[in-house]
Amino acid sequence: MDCPIDASLIARTKGFLDPEEGQTLFEIARTASRLGPCLEIGSYCGKSSLYLGAGCRENDAILFSIDHHRGNEEQQPGEAYCDPDLVDARSGRIDTFAFFRETLDQADLEDTVVPIVSRSGTAARQWATPLGLVFIDGGHTFPAAFSDYNAWSGHLMPGGYLLIHDIFFDPAEGGQAPRHIYELACRSGLFNDLGIVRTLAVLQRRTVTMLPADLPT
Ligand code: MG
Repeated sequence: MDCPIDASLIARTKGFLDPEEGQTLFEIARTASRLGPCLEIGSYCGKSSLYLGAGCRENDAILFSIDHHRGNEEQQPGEAYCDPDLVDARSGRIDTFAFFRETLDQADLEDTVVPIVSRSGTAARQWATPLGLVFIDGGHTFPAAFSDYNAWSGHLMPGGYLLIHDIFFDPAEGGQAPRHIYELACRSGLFNDLGIVRTLAVLQRRTVTMLPADLPT
């Protein structure tokens, strides 16, 4: 099933997401949200939330979407991915929250997507709800990506999906922090690797954890 969100809304929503990756987010959210609520780290202006939210809406489920809305390290004024439209005139700082709200409103997703305006680590401190899907697309430094993986992947239910954006195997094409946590997840023995769609890694939490073969019984 194609994502039912209006193509022109997707096209005009700021963000860094390939349509094929978006369609994958939609399809997996549609499956995962039958298990439980879904959660993304890195809302930005809501482009990925359109796809994930549309998938959740099919099951009358909820997408939690976390972002401090101050832009990541690469989006600050003067940095490579800074968009001057997103600089708030009063504060002089990046503020993507108004754009995010407008995206949800235009897609009629306000009863599906719950924005959490917070640093991911702060939101994680008291989190206790098991999740059907975690999409990691927040800060792209090694400490940021690792702390997102560390804080959130453990909340996945058995059979839940872990999605990681911006996987580049050639360092010339992009930062290596998302790839690093993807490889940590693969090596953990906790996930099945379902493949990579462009730069989007898809893993599924195993329902039966495999023990290393050389552990004593
Ligand atoms: Mg990304």
